[in-house]
Amino acid sequence: PAPIPLSSSVEELYELLEQLGSGHFGVVRRCQERSTGAFYAAKSVKVRRRKGSRLGLDRQQVEREVRILRQLRHPNIMRLHDLFASTAEMVLILELIHGGELFDFIAEKETLTEEEAVPFLKQILLGVSYMHSCRIAHFDLKPENIMLFQKDVPHPTIKIIDFGLAQKLEEGVTFKSLCGTPQYIAPEVVHYEALSTATDMWRVPLRPLSRAEAVPAVAQHPRVFLPRSVGVITYILLSGMSPFQGETDAETLANVVSGNYEFEEKYFSQTSEMAKDFIRQLLLKEPGDRMTASECLVHSWIKPLSRKQATHRSRSSINMKNFRRFNARRKWKLSFHMVSACSRLCQLSRLCQQRRKEEEENLRDCESDQEETSGSPVALLHRQRSISS
Ligand code: ATP
Repeated sequence: PAPIPLSSSVEELYELLEQLGSGHFGVVRRCQERSTGAFYAAKSVKVRRRKGSRLGLDRQQVEREVRILRQLRHPNIMRLHDLFASTAEMVLILELIHGGELFDFIAEKETLTEEEAVPFLKQILLGVSYMHSCRIAHFDLKPENIMLFQKDVPHPTIKIIDFGLAQKLEEGVTFKSLCGTPQYIAPEVVHYEALSTATDMWRVPLRPLSRAEAVPAVAQHPRVFLPRSVGVITYILLSGMSPFQGETDAETLANVVSGNYEFEEKYFSQTSEMAKDFIRQLLLKEPGDRMTASECLVHSWIKPLSRKQATHRSRSSINMKNFRRFNARRKWKLSFHMVSACSRLCQLSRLCQQRRKEEEENLRDCESDQEETSGSPVALLHRQRSISS
């Protein structure tokens, strides 16, 4: 394609269309590239202009997400197409994902056998295995971040999205974080211990890992590179129950740390032993004991070795009634959080306006470095670098 001037703004190059979704720090809109007519998703993220400000994300954090997305090229991972930035906002032009969330797609089905569910898990594992081979851990694998490229096709393609918490694990650098979503989080996160790609697969080290153990090369320590959250997602998919869910976040985190869970017959009566074994090998406390994503891909539940194993899978099924109930509750909680987040944002915005007024009155002659809360920041956005393929 012909080179595009670096100073082009997002609206010159893309027409911004309807909203597709929203996150904590911005919205995602459908957009159309003016030069090609191709559709993408434009994710705008407000960036903090001052350290300590409560509005927006640290620029470094968004830049990290961009660096990671630029590095990943896999059919099961959402692609970054283009990037625009101003002092107040960044806009990521992403591959457009049409099919909605995997869990919503499954909840619409009357019945689903394990055999029909496994291809979805297999694609998640392929994406995760690839990202771990690039030494990238997602750290936020949960149903909201597992989407379908298109749903009205015989074999929908999985796309893993939202690399906002993802990290490139550098050798010799211990990475710790307190971020994540309680029911999908691994115990090492709760304990604020060193994290690895095994956190994506899950279960806690009881002692802090040494530097050498914490960020090993995938090839040297392949076991330390799978997500616990894949185990949690599989458990929920089969039963409609969340293994560590408590009444409150604190209770959920306590359950995660104690590591206790069971396969209650009431919910798992239609589940095969192979599927339970698969989950058991992921929900292990020691990260080093968990299967890696590549090991998961050759587990007999994902890849049966005999006709007998394949038959077990096709005769076992998802607990659809309970799964639908879980999904409806999950959606309700998400919209509830969104409403609370919006009202917090409105409050913050009011506070900012009030503060701005006060500052304007007091410091009329001084240069102000307050937040940009109005105007059209998108118009100031400039393309960072053409990264189209
Ligand atoms: P969070 O607050 O959960 O971290 P976020 O601000 O990082 O969210 P995303 O999770 O990346 O934002 O996107 C928010 C929502 O926008 C998604 O749940 C999804 O519904 C929609 N979305 C994101 N990316 C795309 C895409 N490429 N194509 C279509 N829809 C998308």
